[in-house]
Amino acid sequence: MDHLLRVMFEGVSARAHLVRIDRSWLEVAHRHDEAPEVMSLLGEMSCAAILLSASLKYEGSVALQIHGDGPVRLAIAECTSALGFRSTVKMSETLSVRPGADWKDLVNQGNLGRFSVVLDPKVSGQNPYQGIVPLHEEGVAQALESYMTRSEQLPTRLWLACNGDHAVGLLLQKMPNEGGSIASAPQATGQSSDDDWLRLIALADTLTRDELLSTDARTLLHRLFWEEKPRLLEDRPVQFSCPCSRAKVGKMLRTLGTEEIESILAEQGQVEVNCDFCNTHYAFDAVDCAELFTAEHPPATPGPQTLH
Ligand SMILES: [Zn+2]
Repeated sequence: MDHLLRVMFEGVSARAHLVRIDRSWLEVAHRHDEAPEVMSLLGEMSCAAILLSASLKYEGSVALQIHGDGPVRLAIAECTSALGFRSTVKMSETLSVRPGADWKDLVNQGNLGRFSVVLDPKVSGQNPYQGIVPLHEEGVAQALESYMTRSEQLPTRLWLACNGDHAVGLLLQKMPNEGGSIASAPQATGQSSDDDWLRLIALADTLTRDELLSTDARTLLHRLFWEEKPRLLEDRPVQFSCPCSRAKVGKMLRTLGTEEIESILAEQGQVEVNCDFCNTHYAFDAVDCAELFTAEHPPATPGPQTLH
């Protein structure tokens, strides 16, 4: 089952999100013939994007993008607030993946990698917000932990794992102690909130990677946190979803301008575009291309195209 669980704890001002993707992850994995180390990275990024989008307080999306300087040139994982995610990776043509390659080998060999989080509220008049994630950490989870702890001012811990068939992610976040209904929850144990928080982390730290990958989500939460009286707030399905369309590809082609399109047509007979996320193939022949530039579709102004 591909789903995301949101849990609060009785007496502890903290929340947990747990995501597990199996079938939808295979949809991504089957489209990518890359080394296991690369697919692990992409699976972890996918889970992280899903965990982050579950915290969005508005309709929108979260995109994690790594521009690497190693064999991974570009890795993208995006997820909407409706929990539809997609992810893809582009490899270097010259650098190959060494067996057992770690995060630094893959994306930050020469300290030139860049990792960004783009929050895109689908609200008119609101611009996407881009945050830069430090890459000097040990992996996706650690890098995002320090980014979120800093940017949200809430201590955050992440555990991410992916093998060929499954990808799983757990997020723990300490909530503010004052204000709101969470803060008024009774401190059943009488300990300070820091102790409660550290106890939750200690419990989650007992997880092995195998346990994380092989245990179903509800069992895992119960096994880890039963003493903390977890309260399930939400259990939502997660699915692979690519919002690409012929209309969006057409819009992108218009930004290239008539001259460029004419030259591709002259050379190749038609303009072909393949969606890297879902592998859908779009072809525009001379007639289709002419329609792109008719009066209803004036040439668009070129803009940033990082999010396809
Ligand atoms: Zn697509």
